[in-house]
Amino acid sequence: MTDWDSKLDPRTQLIHHPYVPPAQYAAPQPGVFKASTVFFPTAEAMRTRRWMDKSGYTYGLHGTPTSYLLEERLCALEGGLQCLLVPSGLAALGLVALSLLKTGDEVLIPDNAYGPNKAIAEGELRNWGITHQYYDPMDPEDLEAQISSRTKLVWLEAAGSVTLEFPNLLEMVRVCQRRKVLTALDNTWGAGLAFRPFDLDAESGPHSVGVDISTHALTKYPSGGGDVLMGSVITRNAALHHQLKLTHMRFGFGVGMNDVESVLRSLPSMALRYQAHDAATRTLARWAQKQPEFVQVLHPALETSPGHQDWKALCGSAVGTAAGLFSVIIDACYPQHAVDAFCDALRLFKLGYSWGGPISLVVPYELETMRTTWPAHLAKGTLVRFSIGLEEVADLQADLMQALEAMHQSLLASR
Ligand SMILES: *Cc1c(COP(=O)(O)O)cnc(C)c1O
Repeated sequence: MTDWDSKLDPRTQLIHHPYVPPAQYAAPQPGVFKASTVFFPTAEAMRTRRWMDKSGYTYGLHGTPTSYLLEERLCALEGGLQCLLVPSGLAALGLVALSLLKTGDEVLIPDNAYGPNKAIAEGELRNWGITHQYYDPMDPEDLEAQISSRTKLVWLEAAGSVTLEFPNLLEMVRVCQRRKVLTALDNTWGAGLAFRPFDLDAESGPHSVGVDISTHALTKYPSGGGDVLMGSVITRNAALHHQLKLTHMRFGFGVGMNDVESVLRSLPSMALRYQAHDAATRTLARWAQKQPEFVQVLHPALETSPGHQDWKALCGSAVGTAAGLFSVIIDACYPQHAVDAFCDALRLFKLGYSWGGPISLVVPYELETMRTTWPAHLAKGTLVRFSIGLEEVADLQADLMQALEAMHQSLLASR
């Protein structure tokens, strides 16, 4: 302690103590660096330090060592070069729209898109004179036909998050590149593990075709705990990243470093968890196909599921390439109260939104309110989506069986 330090009042020393711990600390997890304020050594540094390129630190909203680490690891996961972290997966979708669209522009969205992305277009973009159209996710020609001189952004999703149709992603990206329209993929389902969003035709080497932007609800598989909300926006083009980052900074879409640390802690086990979710989900989806109550089972690895061939072409068929979701369409002879009885009777499956955590979840949907028309490739009935957690698959199957029994009882009781 210098003379000057030791003369300070103890209350000031609590804040300005000169002790600095030794630097050689190493452990499996990085430190959690939290800040709003960060210090500059000189006024000159304060004036000249750049925040855009991550060569230094300027303010907590622009990142700390903790968030820089997660950004780099997520780039490695998805094959991108630049990453922005935002407070939720939904905020990632909002950031892309806010940053890239202006009055007079149009955005195209697949009709099976994550519902809240449609709500951004219908509830916000419309107010700013930005129009939207929904295209058939299974038809690249329909997408191409809807592109006009006003189209500035095309959203893609593979698979659709409720109905799980798998699109011909490569062809759709080619269409958009030909027409010089930016593509943004909501990559939450693929998670960087099922396929490479920036290298959709990997055989073509360095000139392979890929999306311009990949957004990811880190809330799902990267977090894996059902306890963190976060999103990312990944790019492979510096100018595009620059534009997105300016919007990110102007609106102050920062994330909390304790949450970043949670995701960093879960990331090493993500591929193993994804594989386990996938294996159990395939087992249950195949079992579900044999149940007469389910008139259709939606899961891209099933030969009968819409887009199966496109899934196989892009992702292969190995376990670890199909996530942990499947949906069933329950025969229309079961009215809502019977479907509700099925969902309520489940014990291991909890009623709740989101996915990617250890606990299996179930959600009944009202598909007629979600699509512009009922697609020809979907059977009539009530759609119920399952997110498969990490429980033992035999226990989950037994749970589904006893809940089917409760559904029959509910139907009989109402007759
Ligand atoms: C969950 C989800 C989101 C939104 O993520 P939140 O962190 O819950 O806001 C976006 N897209 C898809 C496909 C999702 O499943």
